Amino acid sequence: MPILEKLTQPGQARHWTDSIPLEFHYTAGVAGEEFRRELRDNGRFLVSKCSKCKSTYIPARMYCPSCFIEMKDQFPIDKPGYVYSFTSVNRDRSGTDTELPITVGVVKFEGVKGGIVHLLDVDDSERVSIGMKVTPSLKNLSERTGALTDILAFKPTSARPSKTSSEGGTMDRHAARTGDDQARSLLHSIEESGYPIEEDEMTISSLRRKIGKGELLTSDEDRLLHRLGDKAREWRKAVKSSSETEPTDTLSG
Ligand SMILES: [Zn+2]
Repeated sequence: MPILEKLTQPGQARHWTDSIPLEFHYTAGVAGEEFRRELRDNGRFLVSKCSKCKSTYIPARMYCPSCFIEMKDQFPIDKPGYVYSFTSVNRDRSGTDTELPITVGVVKFEGVKGGIVHLLDVDDSERVSIGMKVTPSLKNLSERTGALTDILAFKPTSARPSKTSSEGGTMDRHAARTGDDQARSLLHSIEESGYPIEEDEMTISSLRRKIGKGELLTSDEDRLLHRLGDKAREWRKAVKSSSETEPTDTLSG
């Protein structure tokens, strides 16, 4: 009668060791489940758009973290993503050395907040660059389960054009490349700032296309890019004080 038993001395206390089998199941949430279904059934990424601030989020989520309102507008995106950040690792999650280095990156999508952390399917991390266009390579439909591992990796859409194909004109090309890098980093900082590019999205798209291809911008386009860069900088300053409470918008893969 252990319950009725009254212990008068601490030494009388007895105990035994055993285990209770418990299993936890976590749901992906309403929007998270829709994101996974879309990935499994149609091999596409579902995003949510806020009706108030017009921000679009990947993966789809139920509430806008800025406006705290429900986002009812969801749609899949087909456009390629781009490498926002990447690194190369030599060990797996358990700390075991991998046979070959593995390249991992954050993939973002034009005009969409958030991103997906996943493997980058490249032979050599040296060939990866920030802003490089990538598309997901997925498991076959019959093998997909709605997990992020339905994505095998992100791979480059195509090889970047070579900009040094012949002798001569090295200085010009060097200058072009420097300008190219500047434009690329400016574009990157605009995207990073979270500046709502909604109204300038067409402009940014065409700039990104040109920059992605390594084409030189016209002076008008260059001015435009700098103007957007300035706007983004102001935006960043303005939101700095309020952004500290904003939760992370990146889903780990
Ligand atoms: Zn919003």
